[in-house]
Amino acid sequence: MDFRLTEEHEALRESVRDFAREVVAPVIAEHYEQHTFPYEIIRQMGKMGLFGLPFAEEYGGMGGDYFALCLALEELARVDSSVAITLEAAVSLGAMPIYRFGTDEQKARWLPKLLSGEALAGFGLTEPGFGSDAGGTETRAVLDEAAGEWVINGSKAFITNSGTDITALVTVTAVTGIRPDGSKELSTIIVPSGTPGFTVAPGYSKVGWTASDTHELTFDGCRVPAENLLGERGRGFAQFLRILDEGRIAIAALAVGLAQGCVDESVKYAKERHAFGRPIGNYQAIQFKIADMELKAHTARLAYYDAAARMLAGEPFKRQAAIAKLHASTIAVDNAREATQIHGGYGFMNEYPVARFWRDSKILEIGEGTSEVQRMIIARDLGM
Ligand SMILES: Cc1cc2nc3c(=O)[nH]c(=O)nc-3n(C[C@H](O)[C@H](O)[C@H](O)COP(=O)(O)OP(=O)(O)OC[C@H]3O[C@@H](n4cnc5c(N)ncnc54)[C@H](O)[C@@H]3O)c2cc1C
Repeated sequence: MDFRLTEEHEALRESVRDFAREVVAPVIAEHYEQHTFPYEIIRQMGKMGLFGLPFAEEYGGMGGDYFALCLALEELARVDSSVAITLEAAVSLGAMPIYRFGTDEQKARWLPKLLSGEALAGFGLTEPGFGSDAGGTETRAVLDEAAGEWVINGSKAFITNSGTDITALVTVTAVTGIRPDGSKELSTIIVPSGTPGFTVAPGYSKVGWTASDTHELTFDGCRVPAENLLGERGRGFAQFLRILDEGRIAIAALAVGLAQGCVDESVKYAKERHAFGRPIGNYQAIQFKIADMELKAHTARLAYYDAAARMLAGEPFKRQAAIAKLHASTIAVDNAREATQIHGGYGFMNEYPVARFWRDSKILEIGEGTSEVQRMIIARDLGM
C-alpha cells in the first residue's frame, strides 16, 4: 500500500502544474468568454508530450502510463477544464481506440500526429436520440463490396474535438448488420476529416467547457475505404465499453482537479476578503466549508488512484472506475457550489475562476456515462 507518487510521476505533476499556472491561467478566461479554442496552449501541450503520455515510444508516445495522463489532467483541471477535457478526449477517446484496436497501417498513419498533439481525433458514439443507451445506435454503415467502401448514414451528437482546424478524424460507431438473433451488429469506423458526405455543424452554445470543441456531426452517403474499419467487425460495442471504462478514471482525475482548484481559490479568497472586520477565513463556518471541500477532493483522489492502480496491474477495474467517476463528479459539483458561495457576488462573475469551475462542474455528472449509468455499472458488478 503506497499512495505516494514515484519521482517521475511527481516531476510530471509539477511540470504540468507550473504550465497550468504560468501558461493556461493568464489567457484561458478570455478564450472561455469568447468561446475560442486555445490552439496555442494545445500546441505547447503537444510539445510537452502530454498527448503521448500513455503510449509506447515506437508511435511517438512518451512511454508513460495511464496514471501519468490522469495526473496531468488533474493539474490542468485545477486551473481550467476546457483545456483538460481537450486532452482527455484527444487521448482516451481519440488516439486510444486506434492504439488499442488499430491495424499496423492505421497506427502508422494516425498515431504519430495524434500523439504529438499536431492533430486531434474525436470519438462519435452519442447520437441525437441515444446517449446512455448506446445500443440504440441508428447510424448505419453498409459495405459496398464492389467499391470496397463503407457507406455511412446517420448523425452523432456532442462530439468533442470533432471540428477544430487540426481535427484529423472521427471514429464513428455504426450498425453494420443485424445478427441472427435480431440484435444489432455494431462496429467502429475511422472517418477522416473532410471526407465528402461528412458534415460538422457549428459549435454548440454550451453552459461550460466553452473553450473546448463540441459539434453535432452528420453522415450522408459518406464513403470511406473498407480498411477504415477499426478493430474486428461486430466488436464495436465491446471496444467502446473498454474505452469508456478507462475514460472514467481520466474524467474522475479531471473532476478531482476541479474540486482541488475550488479549494485553492477558496483558501486564497478567504484570507483576502474581509467581512465584519475580519478575513472571512477567520470564521469557523468558512473554515469548515473549506475543510469539507478538501476532504472530498482527497477521498475522490484516492478513489481514482485505486482504479488506475488496478487497471495498470491488469486487474478488473470496471466497478472501481465507476465509483471513482461517480464520487469525483459528485464532489466536484459540491465543491464548485461551495467555492462560489465563499466568493459571494464575485463568485458569480466570470472573471473569477470559481465561476468557471461552477459552470464546468455539471457536465462531469453527465459526460462519459451519467451518474445514473455509473450506479447501474456498480450495481451490475455487485450481481444485480
Ligand atoms: C460537452 C459534451 C461533450 C461530449 N463529448 C462526447 C464525445 O466526445 N463523444 C461522445 O460519443 N459523446 C459525448 N458526449 C455525450 C455524453 O456522453 C452523453 O450526453 C451522455 O452519455 C448522456 O447521454 P444523453 O445526453 O443522451 O442522455 P440520456 O441517455 O438521454 O439520459 C437522460 C437522463 O436519463 C437518465 N437515464 C437514462 N437511462 C436511465 C436508466 N436506465 N435508469 C435511470 N436513469 C436513466 C440519464 O442518467 C440522464 O439523467 C458529450 C456530451 C457533452 C454535453
